[in-house]
Amino acid sequence: GKKEPTDLNAMVQEFSNLAFHGMRATKNPIPVSIELDLDDRIGKIPLYTDDFSRVILNLCNNAFDAMREKLNMEETYGKKYSPELIITSKSTTAGVELIFEDNGTGIPEEIQDKILQPFFTTKKGTEGTGLGLSITHDIIKRHNGNLSINSQLQKGTKFIIFLPNQI
Ligand code: ADP
Ligand code: MG
Repeated sequence: GKKEPTDLNAMVQEFSNLAFHGMRATKNPIPVSIELDLDDRIGKIPLYTDDFSRVILNLCNNAFDAMREKLNMEETYGKKYSPELIITSKSTTAGVELIFEDNGTGIPEEIQDKILQPFFTTKKGTEGTGLGLSITHDIIKRHNGNLSINSQLQKGTKFIIFLPNQI
């Protein structure tokens, strides 16, 4: 396929909404507020649109899982905890940044370098295939972009996608 000029912000709105409603329709819905902070200086950018929609869905679903896990943790009982996902897009001189920030469980330091590997999962049974981030990373690489992770245990996780301007 070919890249198509795509309104990234519109895509983020559409697919984060789809992920949210999908999650709400499962057996284990959680209350989550999603905040979108989208930079309207981003015009249409060349993307493999279908593939990129999976990136958004995967990162939203992982965030929901991490916030569900935190909701169910003993340490969380009796405490105020409101699951929140913030998705930010930013236009920079070098390209576009897209950030997914959740306040879920966070990722233990020891496994941070493993989570992009195919089939790596901490989810039990059939809940996780361990393929989401591996596919996500491949799709971002196909856009000549990169994916970085910033996570703190108990605090939450930030996935930062950088998509360079096309030459
Ligand atoms: P899966 O979701 O099927 O487990 P992924 O490749 O999507 O596979 O993710 C791999 C692992 O990375 C997850 O099992 C989880 O341990 C960790 N992970 C991914 N995203 C998050 C997140 N937002 N917060 C905490 N842990 C995460
Ligand atoms: Mg996943």
